[in-house]
Amino acid sequence: MPKYWILSVRCWVESNRCQLNLFIFFLDFCMQSSSKSVCWRCVKQCGACCHLDPADRPDLDQYLTPAEMAQYLSMVGEDGWCVNFDPTSRECRIYDERPRFCRVEPEIFRKMYGVQSADFNNFAIQCCHQQIAGVYGDLSPERRRFDRELGLAYETADDT
Ligand code: SF4
Ligand code: SF4
Repeated sequence: MPKYWILSVRCWVESNRCQLNLFIFFLDFCMQSSSKSVCWRCVKQCGACCHLDPADRPDLDQYLTPAEMAQYLSMVGEDGWCVNFDPTSRECRIYDERPRFCRVEPEIFRKMYGVQSADFNNFAIQCCHQQIAGVYGDLSPERRRFDRELGLAYETADDT
């Protein structure tokens, strides 16, 4: 009997060690996943932030200087899109010379919105989400592509 008892104890230890190892692995995986930082970047074939209709941005005067506000309003086309936006390629025609308020950069975000560098990525991602949702929709291909390219979501069969 003691022999079987020892065997039973050994089996219990071995099986629980296995479960413990699995649990530690799972915990480690969760910690790595949650601490993985996502870097913002602009994705091709979007252009949502080039839809400038002031009706959708009632707080413009809170972060644009009077000169920038004048420049901003001068760029709004009849359809609400920026006159410098190419709807076919969905790219900026004056990219290298685009105004300060079109540039998604940590130093500019700090000055315009008071966003600290550590919060830049999350803030920029939220801005893109908000803009894409407003222009194309929250479930749009543009939103899925943005999330996929930044590694925020898993690709699904119906993604385009
Ligand atoms: S909304 Fe974001 S991803 Fe889309 S064009 Fe603007 S910066 Fe790029
Ligand atoms: S200037 Fe270029 S980046 Fe800025 S809103 Fe117009 S098209 Fe978009």
